[in-house]
Amino acid sequence: MSKALVFAEGRGEALKEASLEAIGLAAGLADEVVAVAAGPYASRLEGFADRVLLLNDQRLTHPLAMPCARAMAKAFKKESPDLVILSATPFGKEVAPALGALIGLPLMSDITEVRRDGAALTFVKPLYTGKVMGTYRVERTPLLFSVRPKAYPVPKPGKSTATETFSPAFAEGDFRVSLVELAEKEAGEIDVAEADIIVTGGRGMKGPENFALLRELASVLSEKTGAKVAIGASRSAVDEGWIDHSHQVGQTGKIVSPEVYFAIGVSGAMQHLAGMRNSKLIIAVNKDPDAPIFSVADFGVVDDLFKVVPELVKRLKES
Ligand SMILES: Cc1cc2nc3c(=O)[nH]c(=O)nc-3n(C[C@H](O)[C@H](O)[C@H](O)COP(=O)(O)OP(=O)(O)OC[C@H]3O[C@@H](n4cnc5c(N)ncnc54)[C@H](O)[C@@H]3O)c2cc1C
Repeated sequence: MSKALVFAEGRGEALKEASLEAIGLAAGLADEVVAVAAGPYASRLEGFADRVLLLNDQRLTHPLAMPCARAMAKAFKKESPDLVILSATPFGKEVAPALGALIGLPLMSDITEVRRDGAALTFVKPLYTGKVMGTYRVERTPLLFSVRPKAYPVPKPGKSTATETFSPAFAEGDFRVSLVELAEKEAGEIDVAEADIIVTGGRGMKGPENFALLRELASVLSEKTGAKVAIGASRSAVDEGWIDHSHQVGQTGKIVSPEVYFAIGVSGAMQHLAGMRNSKLIIAVNKDPDAPIFSVADFGVVDDLFKVVPELVKRLKES
């Protein structure tokens, strides 16, 4: 019987949706799915994992990468899984390499597809900032890999889940890094990494006040579709101080793959494309017909965004 060990990420009561996506993928590849969770959000795994190992340690109220990697390493020893899976979220990207070092396994990072191929697994992952997709066939187990958020859907619950307390011995030094401050995002703001639709503004927005246009578009899209809509930004817009860095998409921002990505007043520099070219549908608005963003766009509007966006909002409201 094959087994997958999945790291479930969350804080307080909130479980990261990306962890459910990873669990759904795990359930398609292994007979048993065991999730490791570090807080009350573990109750949200009910119906998704076969078993939950709940880390019951006050020091993990705000999970930190090193103790989580250690706990996963101890769970790996206890469970002897065939597959060890994490989400390639910013936190998962901290935990996964440390875990690889602790358990002596190479990490296949940020994969977007896994297929079973007899006894082997075939992985697909973006390379060279997403310019090409690499396909790898791996025959050995155990295997450690991380999955790009949004590459897989959230599964439907249906399993009966058994939760057990897990109290691994941490090593001296695992808590050398401590949380100093937690700066909450504005209430109700959706993270670009978790959004179904992203409305991104670039330098073409001309100033912070004009992001109100994008917020209006996001709001009507959310109202009409029920999807989670986030505001994204190019690095230029962030560097200008128009919007917080947490919205930045690209090589030095977040890597996203939403259902729909609007690039508005964004030229499409390679560092920006690196973060969004794997979006399922890309819609670009730019007054320059030669802007590189059009080379990756499925739909493009060559016009002034200050004409196009209000018109789009108006039409959506009427629809
Ligand atoms: C190491 C490194 C890392 C980087 N990381 C990132 C990253 O993570 N993310 C990122 O985005 N960039 C990143 N960059 C910067 C990147 O190279 C570009 O400079 C940046 O993406 C450009 O942002 P932009 O498209 O908003 O601005 P611009 O390139 O100035 O483009 C603005 C666009 O708006 C259009 N426009 C202007 N007015 C209008 C209008 N009224 N209507 C319609 N269109 C209009 C213009 O035609 C133009 O195409 C990085 C650069 C380096 C060197």
